[in-house]
Amino acid sequence: MTYNRRKFLGITASGAALAASGSFFSSCSAPLEKKGATSQVELKISCQEGVAPGKTLTEKLDFMEQLGIVGLEVWGGGLENRVNEIQDALKNRSIKVSAICAGFGGWLIADDPAVRQTCIDSMRVILEAAGALGSTGLIFVPAFNNQPSLPHKESRELLVEELKELAAFAAEKGTRLLLEPLNRGECYFCRQVADAAAIMRDVNHPAAAVMGDFWHMTWEETSDRGAFISAGNYLHHVHIASRKRRKMPGEDGAADNYTEGFKGLKEIGYSDYVSFECGSEGDPAVTLPAAVKLMREQWELA
Ligand code: MG
Repeated sequence: MTYNRRKFLGITASGAALAASGSFFSSCSAPLEKKGATSQVELKISCQEGVAPGKTLTEKLDFMEQLGIVGLEVWGGGLENRVNEIQDALKNRSIKVSAICAGFGGWLIADDPAVRQTCIDSMRVILEAAGALGSTGLIFVPAFNNQPSLPHKESRELLVEELKELAAFAAEKGTRLLLEPLNRGECYFCRQVADAAAIMRDVNHPAAAVMGDFWHMTWEETSDRGAFISAGNYLHHVHIASRKRRKMPGEDGAADNYTEGFKGLKEIGYSDYVSFECGSEGDPAVTLPAAVKLMREQWELA
């Protein structure tokens, strides 16, 4: 069984893996150091492929580039068949691949061992392609609420063991694992950024990292800033959407405030991407530039 994230195309490729470099992992699980002036931290905006307007990947990248968007997030399903296509499309551009979003089969804490194995095997295929593309990591959720899973304690213990092996494989290929906490309606097992970070602390591998999604955080966190600070150097990706309806940031008016979260990102010296994972009520050719502007204004305020 696979799960869907809206707006991703299920297109599929192969390529050489990048060697894991020391600098790539140097900040993963090192103790949180006090960084310099927070104003030095750069906002690197990324966009999922399905969010940007355009009929082709080239059109989408042209649109993103003129907005100063520097990351492209792609769906993991069939990624092994798209490596060359994506590498060619990114040649001579200022845009790099950010995270890879899911796209594997099965789920890691399934009560059925065969489903767990399907998940591990298919995650390996995507991790190899992710490494070849220089991606910051593969986003995964241990299980959605509707996916029959082991009891919580057993799930957590098993997950940590599975992730040790997958993290070692990811590192070999030059990328990471990015555990994504979701809101309780989608994944009760892991809802908060700090809990995801604690799981990855137990995995204890430099390629075991987490992400935060402002949409899910709206429903689960008591503090966006606190959530990001608690994840510290385990945090390697962020998703952004409007906070009431998961549309383009700004389309939910005053609710779309990310300043406290951005403050937290600056405080931990966050150096990865903030990526659009959202729909749009209006025309993305209009709402996406407005959302980029809003993010930059709030980043300045943070
Ligand atoms: Mg997300």
